[in-house]
Amino acid sequence: MADADAECNIKVLCRFRPLNKSEIIRGDKFIPIFQGEDTVIFGGKSYVFDQVFPTNTTQEQVYNVSAKEIVKDVLRGYNGTIFAYGQTSSGKTHTMEGSLHDPKGMGIIPRISGDIFEHIFAMDENLEFHIKVSYFEIYMDKIRDLLDAQINECTCVSFTKGCTERFVTSSEEVMDVIDEGKANRHVAVTNMNEHSSRSHSIFLINIKQEHVETEQKLCGKLYLVDLAGSEKVSKTGAEGALLDEAKNINKSLSALGNVISALAEGRKSHVPYRDSKMTRILQDSLGGNCRTTMFICCSPSSYNDVETKSTLMFGQRAKTIRNTVSVNLELTAEQWKKKYEKEKLTREDVVLEHLTPGSKDAPPVPAVPEEPLLDICSPCSPCSLASSVVVHISKEERQKYEEEIRKLYKQLDDKDDEINHQSQMVEKLKEQMLDQEELLASSRGDSEKVQSELSRLQKENESAKAEVKEVLQALEELAVNYDQRSLEVEEKSVQNKLLAEELAKKMTHLLALEVELSHIQELSSHQRKRIAEILNGMMKDLGEFSTIVGNRDIKLPMEITGVIEEEFTVARLYISKIKSEVKSMVKRCRHLENLQMECHRKMEETGRELSSCHLLIAQHEAKIRSLVEYMQNVELKKRNLEDSYDSLSEELAKLQAQVHITYMALEQQMESHQEAHSKQLGHLRDEINEKQKIIGELTDCNQKQQLELEQLHLDFERLRMQEHHKSRQVEELTFLHERHEQSKQDLKGLEETVARELHSLHNLRKLFVRDLSTRVRKSAGLEPDDSGGYITQRQKISFLESNLEQLTKVHKQLVRDNADLRCELPKLEKRLRYTADRVKALEGALKEAKEGAMKDRHHYQQEVERIKDVMRARNPFRRSWPACSEVISGFGLFQINPYEHLSNPHQPSHSAPACLLMHLSLSTGNTTDINDNR
Ligand code: ADP
Ligand code: MG
Repeated sequence: MADADAECNIKVLCRFRPLNKSEIIRGDKFIPIFQGEDTVIFGGKSYVFDQVFPTNTTQEQVYNVSAKEIVKDVLRGYNGTIFAYGQTSSGKTHTMEGSLHDPKGMGIIPRISGDIFEHIFAMDENLEFHIKVSYFEIYMDKIRDLLDAQINECTCVSFTKGCTERFVTSSEEVMDVIDEGKANRHVAVTNMNEHSSRSHSIFLINIKQEHVETEQKLCGKLYLVDLAGSEKVSKTGAEGALLDEAKNINKSLSALGNVISALAEGRKSHVPYRDSKMTRILQDSLGGNCRTTMFICCSPSSYNDVETKSTLMFGQRAKTIRNTVSVNLELTAEQWKKKYEKEKLTREDVVLEHLTPGSKDAPPVPAVPEEPLLDICSPCSPCSLASSVVVHISKEERQKYEEEIRKLYKQLDDKDDEINHQSQMVEKLKEQMLDQEELLASSRGDSEKVQSELSRLQKENESAKAEVKEVLQALEELAVNYDQRSLEVEEKSVQNKLLAEELAKKMTHLLALEVELSHIQELSSHQRKRIAEILNGMMKDLGEFSTIVGNRDIKLPMEITGVIEEEFTVARLYISKIKSEVKSMVKRCRHLENLQMECHRKMEETGRELSSCHLLIAQHEAKIRSLVEYMQNVELKKRNLEDSYDSLSEELAKLQAQVHITYMALEQQMESHQEAHSKQLGHLRDEINEKQKIIGELTDCNQKQQLELEQLHLDFERLRMQEHHKSRQVEELTFLHERHEQSKQDLKGLEETVARELHSLHNLRKLFVRDLSTRVRKSAGLEPDDSGGYITQRQKISFLESNLEQLTKVHKQLVRDNADLRCELPKLEKRLRYTADRVKALEGALKEAKEGAMKDRHHYQQEVERIKDVMRARNPFRRSWPACSEVISGFGLFQINPYEHLSNPHQPSHSAPACLLMHLSLSTGNTTDINDNR
C-alpha cells in the first residue's frame, strides 16, 4: 500500500441546476454558457473548474466523475471529503442525497454507500472491515447528533467523542441510518426547508480495515457535507432570531471562506480553523490529509446572478487549495518495534554527535527507559514520527508523565475552549462591528433621506411663504379697497343728508303749491261759471244772428248746460257753420257781380267787330276785281311759257341722253382708278412695314457696332498706353544698351592700356635683365677697383630692385583688375542679352497688338460698308440718302484713320454713328425710337 505523501489540489466541480417552475413562470433568463467540460461563462466572465456539469447531467454521471475515485481512496486508507456549497435551492441536497430510494435520482451518499460495500465484497478475503457511520448537523455553531432520538447536542468540541457511531454491514443499513437521521431532523424542526438552509449536515463514514494475517490496519474517513445556504442575509430579509440564525450561518460559512482564503494564499500556519465548529471538524478536509471534492451548486437564473457569481468566485478560490494526503496506516506491534529501533539508532547517532569530547558543557542526556512510550499522537493524526521525542523513563515517572500529559491535555482543552470563546467573542465583536456598520450605512441612508425630506420641506416652506406673501398682499389690497369704499360711503351719506334736506324743502314747497292749486281751482270754477254765463249770452246772440242770416237748419241748444267745454265746442261749431254760410253767400254775391261785368264787355266787343267786318267786305270786293284782271294777264303769259317749255323739254331730252353716256364712261374710269389706287396702297403699306423692320434691324446693328466701336476705342486707348509704356521701356533699354556699349568700350580701352602697360613692363623687365646680365658680366670681367663705384652700383641695384618690386606690384594689381573685369564682363553681357531679348519680345507684343487693332478696325469697316450697301439697296431714291452717304463716307474716313477724329474737331457730325442714326430716323420719320435707342 502506498505510503508516500502526495500533494493534491481540492477538486472543485460546478453543477448548474435547471430553471425551476417559478423561475420559468417569472420569465427569468438562463445565463450560463457552457464551454467544454470545465468552463462556464457566467455574466460575461468565464470560470474554469475541474468539471462543469450542465443542467441536464444525470445523478449517475455526477457520481462517476466526482465520487467513484474517492470511494476507492477511502478504502485505500485515505481521508476524503465531499462538500456541497451554494445558495439555498441551488441543488446541494439534490446532489448529496437526491431522492434516496430512487435508483435514478439518488445522490452521492446513497451511491457511495452502495459502492463501498460492492468494493469490500470484491476485495481480499483476509481483510476485516469495521464501518461506522455518524450523522449530525451543525446549527447555530452547535453540533447536533441526528442519530440520537433526543437530538443531543454534543458538548464536546471533538465530536467523535460525543456523537453516535453506528456500525453498518451493508448499504441497506447505511440507508436506514440516513433515513433515521432525516426523520429525527424532521421531528426537531417545523419547517425543514428553512432549517436545512440554515444548518450544515454532515454524514461521516469511517472505514477501518485490518489484514487478518499481517494485522495491518488502515483507516479512512469520508465526510459528506451538505452546507447551509450561502445566500446573503440581506436577501432573505430575516429579522430578530432569524437574523441571528442567518448571521450564524454566515459566520460559519464565512469562517469556511476565511479558511479557504488562508489556504489559498498559502499561509498554512495561521489558518483560522478554530473560528467555527465546522471548520474545526473539517480541518483535515481543508488543507490537511484529505482528498477533497467541492461541489459548487449554482442557479442558472438571472434572478440569482449575484449569488451565483459569489458562489463561482468561492469555488475559484477553493480550487487553489492544496492538500497533503497520506494513508492512515495503523502499525502493528512488529512494525512499531521496527520503527522504534530505526528511530533509536538515528537518535543515538544524534546523541553521540552531541557528546563529542570537545563539548563538555553539553546537557546530560536523559535516561532512556527500557520500554517505548506510546505515541502521543493519535493514529489518525498527521503528526510525523520523525519529530516526536522518544524518552526512556521508569514506570513511576511514566505514570507521573502520563498524568501530567493528561493535565496538559486538559489544559489544552481548556485553552482550546478559551480560544474558542475568545474567537467567538472576536467574531461577535466583528459581527457587532458589521452590524454597526450596517446600522451606520442605514442611518446614513436615513439621514440622506431625512436631508432630502428636509430640503423638500424647505422647498415647500418657501413655496408656502410665497403663498402667504401673496395672500398678505391680496389682503392689503382688500384693506386699501375697503378704506376707499368707506370714504366713498361717508361721502355718499353726506350727500344723502343734503338730499334729504333738499327733499324736505321740496316737500314744503309742494305743500305750498298744493294750497295755491286749490286756490286756483276755486278761481277757475268761478271763472268757468262766468264764462258759461257769457257763452250763454253769446249763444243767444248767435241764435239771433242765425235767424237773421236766415238759415233755419242750424239749431242751437236753447239752454246751455254747466259744462263749459261742451258749450265751447258747440259754440265753436255753431260759429264755424255760420262762418261757412256767410262765406258762401259772399262768394255767390261776388260771382254774380263778375258775370254782369263780363256781359257788358262782350256786348261792346261784338259791336266793334261788326263795324270792322263791314270795312273788310268792302276791301275784298275791290281786291277781287283787280285779281280778275291779273288772271287774264297771267293766262296769256302761261300760254307763251308752255310753248317755250315744250321746246326746251325736247332740248333737255337730247341733252340728258348725252349726259348719261358720259357718266357711264366716267364711272368705269373711276372704278379702274380706285382699284389701281388700292393695289398701290397695299403695296406701299407692305413696303413700309418691311422698311420699318429693316430699320429696326439696322438700328440694332448700329447699336452693336457702336458698342464695338466703343470697345475698340477702349482697346485702342489701352494699346496706346501700352505702346507708350513700351516705347519708354525701349528708350530706357536703349539707354542701358548705350551705357553697356560705353562700358564695353571703356573696358576695351582699359584692357588695351593694361596690355600696353604689360608690354612696357615686359620690355622694362627685359631691359633690366639685360642690364643686370651686362653688369654681372662686367663685374665678373673686372673686379671692382674702388669701393665708391661698388657702392653706387649697389645703390643702383637696390634702386632697381625696389623699382622692380613696385612694378611687379603694379603688374599684379593690374592683372587682378583685369581678372575682375573679365569676371564682370560675362555678367554684363548676359544682362545686355537679356534686355535685348526683352526689348524684342516687347516689340513683338506691340506689333501683335497693333495688328489686332488693325484687324478689328478692318472688320468694323467692312461691317459699315455692308450696312451702307444694304441701306443703299433698300432706299435708293430717298431724298435724305445723299446726306447720309456723305456722313457715312465721313464715317468711313474716320474708320480708316481712327486717330484723326481725336485730333480733328471739325468733323461733319460730332459722331459718325450718331449722324447715321439721325439720318435713318429722318428717312423713316420715327425720331422718338431712335432717341430712345440712343
Ligand atoms: P438546496 O439543498 O441547495 O437548497 P435542493 O437540492 O433542495 O437545493 O434543490 C432544490 C430543488 O431543485 C429540488 O426540488 C431539486 O429536486 C431541484 N434540483 C436541484 N438540482 C437539480 C438538478 N440538477 N436537476 C433537477 N432538479 C434539481
Ligand atoms: Mg438543502
